[in-house]
Amino acid sequence: MTWLALLADKAIRRELLTREEALAVLASGDDELMDVVAAAFRVRREFFGRRVKLNYLVNVKSGLCPEDCSYCSQRLGSAADVLKYTWLKSAEVSKAAEAGVRAGAKRVCLVASGRGPTDRDIDRVCSTIGGLKAEHPGIEVCACLGILTDGQAERLAAAGTTAYNHNLNTSGGHYAEICATHEYADRVATVGKARDAGLSACSGLIAGMGETDEDLVDVAFALRALDPDSVPVNFLIPFEGTPLAGTWTLTPQRCLRILAMVRFTCPDAEVRIAGGREIHLRTLQPLALHIANSIFLGDYLTSEGQAGQADLEMIADAGFTVEGAAEQTLPAHRASHGPAQVRTRHRGAGTDLPANA
Ligand code: SF4
Repeated sequence: MTWLALLADKAIRRELLTREEALAVLASGDDELMDVVAAAFRVRREFFGRRVKLNYLVNVKSGLCPEDCSYCSQRLGSAADVLKYTWLKSAEVSKAAEAGVRAGAKRVCLVASGRGPTDRDIDRVCSTIGGLKAEHPGIEVCACLGILTDGQAERLAAAGTTAYNHNLNTSGGHYAEICATHEYADRVATVGKARDAGLSACSGLIAGMGETDEDLVDVAFALRALDPDSVPVNFLIPFEGTPLAGTWTLTPQRCLRILAMVRFTCPDAEVRIAGGREIHLRTLQPLALHIANSIFLGDYLTSEGQAGQADLEMIADAGFTVEGAAEQTLPAHRASHGPAQVRTRHRGAGTDLPANA
Protein backbone atom coordinates (compact mmCIF):
# COMPACT_ATOMS: atom_id res chain seq x y z
CA MET A 1 0.00 0.00 0.00
CA THR A 2 1.35 3.47 -0.87
CA TRP A 3 1.89 6.19 1.71
CA LEU A 4 -1.00 8.14 0.19
CA ALA A 5 -3.36 5.18 0.49
CA LEU A 6 -2.35 4.82 4.13
CA LEU A 7 -2.93 8.54 4.63
CA ALA A 8 -6.41 8.28 3.11
CA ASP A 9 -7.23 5.32 5.38
CA LYS A 10 -6.10 7.31 8.38
CA ALA A 11 -8.21 10.30 7.38
CA ILE A 12 -11.25 8.12 6.81
CA ARG A 13 -10.80 6.88 10.39
CA ARG A 14 -10.65 10.58 11.38
CA GLU A 15 -7.17 10.08 12.80
CA LEU A 16 -4.97 13.16 12.87
CA LEU A 17 -2.08 12.83 10.45
CA THR A 18 1.41 13.71 11.61
CA ARG A 19 3.09 16.99 10.69
CA GLU A 20 5.54 15.01 8.57
CA GLU A 21 2.69 13.44 6.61
CA ALA A 22 1.01 16.80 6.05
CA LEU A 23 4.29 18.34 4.93
CA ALA A 24 4.90 15.38 2.58
CA VAL A 25 1.59 16.09 0.82
CA LEU A 26 2.69 19.69 0.23
CA ALA A 27 6.15 18.56 -0.94
CA SER A 28 4.93 15.81 -3.26
CA GLY A 29 6.15 15.99 -6.85
CA ASP A 30 4.22 16.44 -10.06
CA ASP A 31 4.57 12.72 -10.86
CA GLU A 32 2.52 12.00 -7.73
CA LEU A 33 -0.08 14.74 -8.19
CA MET A 34 -2.85 12.51 -9.49
CA ASP A 35 -2.16 10.01 -6.69
CA VAL A 36 -2.58 12.85 -4.20
CA VAL A 37 -5.88 13.86 -5.80
CA ALA A 38 -7.11 10.25 -5.92
CA ALA A 39 -6.26 9.66 -2.25
CA ALA A 40 -7.98 12.89 -1.21
CA PHE A 41 -10.98 11.94 -3.34
CA ARG A 42 -11.37 8.69 -1.39
CA VAL A 43 -11.69 10.76 1.78
CA ARG A 44 -14.03 13.29 0.17
CA ARG A 45 -16.22 10.48 -1.20
CA GLU A 46 -16.39 8.78 2.18
CA PHE A 47 -17.91 11.84 3.87
CA PHE A 48 -19.58 13.76 1.04
CA GLY A 49 -20.02 11.40 -1.91
CA ARG A 50 -19.91 13.35 -5.16
CA ARG A 51 -22.04 16.22 -3.86
CA VAL A 52 -20.99 19.85 -4.24
CA LYS A 53 -22.43 22.47 -1.94
CA LEU A 54 -23.02 25.89 -3.47
CA ASN A 55 -22.63 29.06 -1.43
CA TYR A 56 -23.44 32.61 -2.41
CA LEU A 57 -21.79 35.75 -1.08
CA VAL A 58 -23.57 39.01 -0.45
CA ASN A 59 -21.33 41.88 0.56
CA VAL A 60 -23.61 43.70 2.99
CA LYS A 61 -21.06 46.41 3.85
CA SER A 62 -18.03 47.10 1.72
CA GLY A 63 -14.71 48.93 2.08
CA LEU A 64 -13.56 51.65 4.49
CA CYS A 65 -12.22 49.22 7.08
CA PRO A 66 -9.95 50.57 9.86
CA GLU A 67 -8.00 47.28 10.04
CA ASP A 68 -4.84 46.68 8.03
CA CYS A 69 -5.02 43.05 6.84
CA SER A 70 -2.44 43.11 4.08
CA TYR A 71 -4.33 40.74 1.75
CA CYS A 72 -7.57 42.71 1.82
CA SER A 73 -8.75 45.18 -0.78
CA GLN A 74 -10.96 46.84 1.84
CA ARG A 75 -8.19 47.53 4.34
CA LEU A 76 -7.22 50.86 5.84
CA GLY A 77 -5.70 53.03 3.12
CA SER A 78 -6.37 50.52 0.37
CA ALA A 79 -6.00 51.99 -3.10
CA ALA A 80 -7.79 49.02 -4.64
CA ASP A 81 -10.70 49.93 -6.87
CA VAL A 82 -13.56 48.39 -4.89
CA LEU A 83 -17.06 49.50 -4.07
CA LYS A 84 -17.44 51.33 -0.78
CA TYR A 85 -20.83 51.40 0.89
CA THR A 86 -22.36 51.09 4.31
CA TRP A 87 -24.93 48.48 5.36
CA LEU A 88 -27.35 47.34 2.68
CA LYS A 89 -31.02 47.45 3.61
CA SER A 90 -32.84 44.16 4.24
CA ALA A 91 -34.71 44.35 0.94
CA GLU A 92 -31.45 44.94 -0.93
CA VAL A 93 -29.87 41.91 0.72
CA SER A 94 -32.86 39.73 -0.13
CA LYS A 95 -32.77 40.90 -3.72
CA ALA A 96 -29.03 40.22 -3.97
CA ALA A 97 -29.43 36.77 -2.42
CA GLU A 98 -32.27 35.85 -4.76
CA ALA A 99 -29.99 35.24 -7.74
CA GLY A 100 -27.79 32.81 -5.81
CA VAL A 101 -30.71 30.93 -4.30
CA ARG A 102 -32.36 30.56 -7.71
CA ALA A 103 -29.11 29.20 -9.11
CA GLY A 104 -28.97 26.48 -6.45
CA ALA A 105 -27.02 28.01 -3.55
CA LYS A 106 -27.82 26.25 -0.31
CA ARG A 107 -26.10 28.84 1.84
CA VAL A 108 -26.06 32.62 1.64
CA CYS A 109 -23.05 34.26 3.28
CA LEU A 110 -23.56 37.82 4.50
CA VAL A 111 -20.18 39.51 4.71
CA ALA A 112 -19.41 42.91 6.20
CA SER A 113 -16.13 44.77 6.19
CA GLY A 114 -14.81 46.09 9.49
CA ARG A 115 -13.11 44.93 12.67
CA GLY A 116 -16.34 43.69 14.11
CA PRO A 117 -20.01 44.61 14.58
CA THR A 118 -21.46 46.98 17.15
CA ASP A 119 -24.55 45.83 19.01
CA ARG A 120 -26.58 48.07 16.68
CA ASP A 121 -25.03 46.35 13.70
CA ILE A 122 -26.09 43.02 15.18
CA ASP A 123 -29.67 44.36 15.47
CA ARG A 124 -29.59 45.27 11.80
CA VAL A 125 -28.11 41.94 10.69
CA CYS A 126 -30.58 39.95 12.81
CA SER A 127 -33.44 41.79 11.17
CA THR A 128 -31.96 41.17 7.71
CA ILE A 129 -31.52 37.48 8.48
CA GLY A 130 -35.11 37.27 9.71
CA GLY A 131 -36.26 38.71 6.38
CA LEU A 132 -34.06 36.35 4.36
CA LYS A 133 -35.24 33.28 6.25
CA ALA A 134 -38.86 34.31 5.81
CA GLU A 135 -38.37 34.63 2.07
CA HIS A 136 -36.23 31.51 1.66
CA PRO A 137 -37.16 29.18 4.54
CA GLY A 138 -34.78 26.36 3.54
CA ILE A 139 -31.74 28.52 3.10
CA GLU A 140 -28.74 28.44 5.45
CA VAL A 141 -27.46 31.88 6.41
CA CYS A 142 -23.86 32.45 7.43
CA ALA A 143 -22.76 35.73 8.94
CA CYS A 144 -19.22 37.01 8.51
CA LEU A 145 -18.99 40.23 10.46
CA GLY A 146 -15.57 40.18 12.09
CA ILE A 147 -14.50 39.89 15.69
CA LEU A 148 -17.45 39.27 18.02
CA THR A 149 -17.88 40.59 21.52
CA ASP A 150 -19.63 38.66 24.27
CA GLY A 151 -23.30 37.94 23.64
CA GLN A 152 -23.32 38.82 19.93
CA ALA A 153 -23.05 35.23 18.69
CA GLU A 154 -25.97 34.24 20.91
CA ARG A 155 -28.10 37.01 19.41
CA LEU A 156 -27.24 35.94 15.88
CA ALA A 157 -28.12 32.34 16.73
CA ALA A 158 -31.45 33.41 18.20
CA ALA A 159 -32.24 35.27 14.96
CA GLY A 160 -31.92 32.06 12.96
CA THR A 161 -28.33 32.40 11.73
CA THR A 162 -26.96 29.01 10.72
CA ALA A 163 -23.24 29.63 10.78
CA TYR A 164 -20.55 32.17 11.54
CA ASN A 165 -17.44 32.59 9.42
CA HIS A 166 -14.20 33.91 10.79
CA ASN A 167 -11.04 32.59 9.18
CA LEU A 168 -7.74 32.04 10.97
CA ASN A 169 -6.19 32.88 7.60
CA THR A 170 -2.63 31.84 8.43
CA SER A 171 -0.56 30.35 11.23
CA GLY A 172 -0.18 32.03 14.59
CA GLY A 173 3.53 32.42 13.83
CA HIS A 174 2.90 34.21 10.54
CA TYR A 175 -0.05 36.30 11.64
CA ALA A 176 1.90 39.42 12.62
CA GLU A 177 3.29 39.54 9.07
CA ILE A 178 -0.16 40.03 7.57
CA CYS A 179 -1.96 42.14 10.17
CA ALA A 180 -0.96 44.58 12.90
CA THR A 181 -4.34 45.82 14.09
CA HIS A 182 -5.62 42.62 15.64
CA GLU A 183 -4.16 39.32 16.70
CA TYR A 184 -4.45 35.69 15.80
CA ALA A 185 -5.83 35.01 19.28
CA ASP A 186 -8.74 37.39 18.55
CA ARG A 187 -9.68 35.21 15.60
CA VAL A 188 -9.44 31.97 17.53
CA ALA A 189 -11.60 33.48 20.29
CA THR A 190 -14.32 34.56 17.85
CA VAL A 191 -14.54 31.10 16.28
CA GLY A 192 -14.94 29.70 19.80
CA LYS A 193 -17.65 32.24 20.67
CA ALA A 194 -19.62 31.31 17.55
CA ARG A 195 -19.38 27.60 18.25
CA ASP A 196 -20.25 28.01 21.93
CA ALA A 197 -23.38 29.91 20.92
CA GLY A 198 -24.52 26.95 18.83
CA LEU A 199 -23.61 28.44 15.46
CA SER A 200 -21.96 26.20 12.92
CA ALA A 201 -18.33 27.29 12.88
CA CYS A 202 -16.80 28.17 9.52
CA SER A 203 -13.10 28.99 9.54
CA GLY A 204 -10.39 28.62 6.97
CA LEU A 205 -7.24 30.03 5.51
CA ILE A 206 -5.65 32.06 2.75
CA ALA A 207 -2.71 30.50 0.91
CA GLY A 208 -0.15 32.43 -1.09
CA MET A 209 0.68 35.20 1.41
CA GLY A 210 4.38 34.37 1.74
CA GLU A 211 3.82 31.61 4.27
CA THR A 212 5.95 28.47 4.50
CA ASP A 213 4.70 24.90 4.22
CA GLU A 214 5.07 24.72 8.00
CA ASP A 215 2.74 27.71 8.35
CA LEU A 216 0.15 26.00 6.15
CA VAL A 217 0.34 22.85 8.23
CA ASP A 218 0.16 24.90 11.44
CA VAL A 219 -3.02 26.67 10.36
CA ALA A 220 -4.60 23.44 9.11
CA PHE A 221 -3.83 21.72 12.42
CA ALA A 222 -5.15 24.74 14.35
CA LEU A 223 -8.36 24.51 12.34
CA ARG A 224 -8.63 20.80 13.09
CA ALA A 225 -8.34 21.65 16.80
CA LEU A 226 -11.17 24.20 16.48
CA ASP A 227 -13.27 21.57 14.69
CA PRO A 228 -15.16 23.86 12.29
CA ASP A 229 -17.95 22.40 10.18
CA SER A 230 -16.65 24.20 7.11
CA VAL A 231 -13.17 25.23 6.03
CA PRO A 232 -12.89 27.77 3.21
CA VAL A 233 -9.54 27.68 1.43
CA ASN A 234 -8.76 30.99 -0.24
CA PHE A 235 -5.93 31.52 -2.69
CA LEU A 236 -4.55 35.04 -2.47
CA ILE A 237 -5.63 37.48 -5.11
CA PRO A 238 -2.89 40.09 -4.86
CA PHE A 239 -4.95 43.20 -5.42
CA GLU A 240 -3.23 46.28 -6.75
CA GLY A 241 -3.29 48.90 -4.02
CA THR A 242 -2.60 46.40 -1.21
CA PRO A 243 0.78 45.45 0.33
CA LEU A 244 0.60 41.99 -1.23
CA ALA A 245 0.11 43.32 -4.77
CA GLY A 246 2.33 41.36 -7.13
CA THR A 247 2.65 38.35 -4.80
CA TRP A 248 2.06 35.48 -7.20
CA THR A 249 3.47 32.34 -5.57
CA LEU A 250 0.83 29.71 -6.28
CA THR A 251 0.53 27.25 -9.13
CA PRO A 252 -2.55 25.17 -9.91
CA GLN A 253 -0.69 22.05 -8.76
CA ARG A 254 0.26 23.65 -5.46
CA CYS A 255 -3.35 24.69 -4.91
CA LEU A 256 -4.39 21.05 -5.33
CA ARG A 257 -1.74 19.92 -2.82
CA ILE A 258 -2.90 22.54 -0.32
CA LEU A 259 -6.53 21.47 -0.71
CA ALA A 260 -5.51 17.82 -0.30
CA MET A 261 -3.51 18.56 2.85
CA VAL A 262 -6.53 20.37 4.30
CA ARG A 263 -8.82 17.47 3.30
CA PHE A 264 -6.55 14.92 5.01
CA THR A 265 -6.30 17.13 8.11
CA CYS A 266 -10.01 17.99 8.37
CA PRO A 267 -11.43 14.91 6.62
CA ASP A 268 -15.11 15.31 7.49
CA ALA A 269 -15.28 19.12 7.27
CA GLU A 270 -16.89 20.86 4.33
CA VAL A 271 -13.76 21.98 2.47
CA ARG A 272 -14.74 24.96 0.33
CA ILE A 273 -12.73 26.39 -2.53
CA ALA A 274 -13.09 30.12 -1.95
CA GLY A 275 -11.44 33.26 -3.34
CA GLY A 276 -8.89 32.88 -6.12
CA ARG A 277 -10.33 29.62 -7.43
CA GLU A 278 -10.49 30.69 -11.04
CA ILE A 279 -7.21 32.56 -11.34
CA HIS A 280 -5.07 30.09 -9.41
CA LEU A 281 -6.55 26.68 -10.21
CA ARG A 282 -7.46 27.72 -13.72
CA THR A 283 -8.06 24.63 -15.89
CA LEU A 284 -7.52 22.32 -12.90
CA GLN A 285 -10.70 23.50 -11.17
CA PRO A 286 -12.59 20.27 -11.96
CA LEU A 287 -9.77 18.26 -10.34
CA ALA A 288 -10.13 20.38 -7.22
CA LEU A 289 -13.75 19.24 -6.96
CA HIS A 290 -12.38 15.77 -6.28
CA ILE A 291 -10.88 17.15 -3.08
CA ALA A 292 -13.16 19.97 -1.95
CA ASN A 293 -16.92 19.51 -1.69
CA SER A 294 -18.05 23.12 -1.71
CA ILE A 295 -17.59 26.27 -3.78
CA PHE A 296 -18.84 29.82 -3.96
CA LEU A 297 -21.14 30.29 -6.89
CA GLY A 298 -20.36 33.12 -9.26
CA ASP A 299 -18.86 36.32 -7.84
CA TYR A 300 -16.87 36.93 -4.68
CA LEU A 301 -16.82 40.09 -2.62
CA THR A 302 -15.03 42.66 -4.68
CA SER A 303 -14.20 40.74 -7.83
CA GLU A 304 -16.13 38.64 -10.25
CA GLY A 305 -15.82 34.86 -10.36
CA GLN A 306 -16.66 32.80 -13.40
CA ALA A 307 -20.29 32.85 -14.44
CA GLY A 308 -22.60 30.71 -12.31
CA GLN A 309 -23.63 28.84 -15.39
CA ALA A 310 -20.04 27.80 -16.05
CA ASP A 311 -19.75 26.57 -12.45
CA LEU A 312 -22.84 24.41 -12.79
CA GLU A 313 -21.63 23.00 -16.07
CA MET A 314 -18.21 22.26 -14.63
CA ILE A 315 -19.81 20.37 -11.73
CA ALA A 316 -21.96 18.30 -14.07
CA ASP A 317 -19.13 17.67 -16.54
CA ALA A 318 -16.86 16.41 -13.74
CA GLY A 319 -19.53 13.92 -12.64
CA PHE A 320 -20.63 15.69 -9.47
CA THR A 321 -24.08 16.77 -8.33
CA VAL A 322 -25.24 19.93 -6.61
CA GLU A 323 -26.16 19.32 -2.98
CA GLY A 324 -29.88 19.74 -2.42
CA ALA A 325 -30.49 20.16 -6.15
CA ALA A 326 -33.72 18.16 -5.98
CA GLU A 327 -35.28 20.83 -3.79
CA GLN A 328 -33.96 23.71 -5.86
CA THR A 329 -35.35 24.97 -9.11
CA LEU A 330 -32.14 24.13 -10.88
CA PRO A 331 -32.05 24.50 -14.63
CA ALA A 332 -32.35 21.31 -16.62
CA HIS A 333 -29.05 19.61 -17.30
CA ARG A 334 -27.50 20.81 -20.49
CA ALA A 335 -26.98 17.26 -21.76
CA SER A 336 -30.65 17.13 -22.60
CA HIS A 337 -31.65 20.76 -22.91
CA GLY A 338 -28.53 22.71 -23.78
CA PRO A 339 -26.69 25.21 -21.59
CA ALA A 340 -28.61 26.24 -18.50
CA GLN A 341 -29.71 29.85 -18.21
CA VAL A 342 -28.67 30.95 -14.76
CA ARG A 343 -28.64 34.52 -13.60
CA THR A 344 -26.07 34.96 -10.88
CA ARG A 345 -24.41 38.33 -11.01
CA HIS A 346 -25.77 41.08 -8.87
CA ARG A 347 -22.86 43.31 -7.99
CA GLY A 348 -20.92 45.73 -10.04
CA ALA A 349 -17.85 44.71 -8.12
CA GLY A 350 -17.04 42.79 -5.09
CA THR A 351 -13.55 41.41 -3.39
CA ASP A 352 -12.44 37.87 -3.69
CA LEU A 353 -11.42 37.26 -0.17
CA PRO A 354 -14.23 37.32 2.31
CA ALA A 355 -13.60 40.57 4.06
CA ASN A 356 -13.56 39.33 7.58
CA ALA A 357 -12.62 35.88 6.57
S1 SF4 B 1 -10.15 41.37 6.23
FE1 SF4 B 1 -11.88 42.35 7.28
S2 SF4 B 1 -10.95 43.29 9.09
FE2 SF4 B 1 -9.25 42.86 7.65
S3 SF4 B 1 -9.03 44.77 6.45
FE3 SF4 B 1 -10.42 43.41 5.29
S4 SF4 B 1 -12.50 44.07 5.93
FE4 SF4 B 1 -11.04 44.85 7.45
